[in-house]
Amino acid sequence: MDSCAKRNCGLVAFFLCLLTASALGQAPTPGVQPLTAMPSVIQVPPEAQPSANFNAEAATNAYLAQIPADARARSDAYFEGGYWMILWDFLYGAVVMLLLLNLGWSAAMRNLAERVTRFKPVHTLVYWAQYLLLTSIIGFPLVVYEDYFREHKYGLATQTFGPWMGDQLKGLLVNLVLGGILAVLLFGIVRRLRRTWWIWGSVVTLCSMIVVVLVAPVYIVPIFNKVTRLDDPRVTQPILSMARANGIPVHDVFKIDASRQSTRMSANVSGFGSTMRITLNDNLLRRGSPEEIQAVMGHEMGHYVLHHIYKDTLFFGVVIVISFALLQWSLNRSLARWGERWKIRDIGDTAVLPLVVLLFSIFGFVVTPILNTQVRTTEGEADMYGLNASRQPDGFAQAAIHLGEYRKMNPGPVEEWIFFDHPSGRNRIYAAMRWKAENLRLMRWQASPDAEAGSPTPDHK
Ligand SMILES: [Zn+2]
Repeated sequence: MDSCAKRNCGLVAFFLCLLTASALGQAPTPGVQPLTAMPSVIQVPPEAQPSANFNAEAATNAYLAQIPADARARSDAYFEGGYWMILWDFLYGAVVMLLLLNLGWSAAMRNLAERVTRFKPVHTLVYWAQYLLLTSIIGFPLVVYEDYFREHKYGLATQTFGPWMGDQLKGLLVNLVLGGILAVLLFGIVRRLRRTWWIWGSVVTLCSMIVVVLVAPVYIVPIFNKVTRLDDPRVTQPILSMARANGIPVHDVFKIDASRQSTRMSANVSGFGSTMRITLNDNLLRRGSPEEIQAVMGHEMGHYVLHHIYKDTLFFGVVIVISFALLQWSLNRSLARWGERWKIRDIGDTAVLPLVVLLFSIFGFVVTPILNTQVRTTEGEADMYGLNASRQPDGFAQAAIHLGEYRKMNPGPVEEWIFFDHPSGRNRIYAAMRWKAENLRLMRWQASPDAEAGSPTPDHK
């Protein structure tokens, strides 16, 4: 349902974590409800009950009307505040990079790394460690506001400061290792292949992302959370039954203790090939009805059956190649103009890193709506698959309302296009109610082919 939180994060986070200080974490108080808690709509509103004059629009509105005004106002405020955070994160990051360049700090970090060693790969690692530490410290005020205080303000976080900080430090270490490996590889390529580095650089970046997505469920996720096999047959039997009915060769469903960090309900598909798996979070298991859980699992199976991980990889592969091409072009120009002032010798000089990050972040900021639209489109496909697989339109509507605790339910079309990486709650409920309306009609047709004027009369001969 909220798969992209992880599905693409796995894919993109590695890349993005290189660009900005990572914010992987957010303590254990299971049972905490978000301040924006939405009602658990076990009862289907009268307008959404099956009837001869069932109307998808009226049923959608009846579901939306069940959300208390104050809960909706808080969740809108949280989500709209997120729009501004995208801008502040970008501007703050850009200012930090410009400071590192203009104050000569990047050149100083390179000089220090050179004093440690002239052996290039180790030199790159030493520079990377200094860069990561310094940018994490300078970026900390924004991260602590965004990921700690703001999340607590809306009741979405469950961690006290100590454990939260612990997760931040773990994230920093992961970033130090994975980012360090990638930095060594990329600088090695730039130094050897002066003309074609951007092609090979994008290939290596994409391959690194695939490796991270492959190993993340097994090696990275357990650093932050406990993942266990779900063994409650009341939950797993219907899910595995649905999987078999759809030809999905899974024998296990996994559960993650997401309540360690957050009150958000979610599920995801992660991994590649043999590590690919469907994971439910404990908030969903605790607060979701059986119908809702089945609807969410149908959606996750949709990601699996429709090969979304592979398609997204292809899409992001193209995005990466384009970004590297733009990087090469803009890097040459920037260095010709300001290289001397920033004491950067050439593109193979590690001191160039803040400039690379700045240029990538400008590109990333501009293409955010396109990335969101790609992800939102596959999410919509998974929604359709999930409705057909689970046949739980009301469970699905309920899940959409629960996800409305941290997502605006009813945005304008342009707002949805720019900012939403999933269809909005309203559009998801409407899709479920439309499915229900059409299936009620199909059932009536099957019961009596002549029941409706203009309906086709099946010819069995
Ligand atoms: Zn999804």
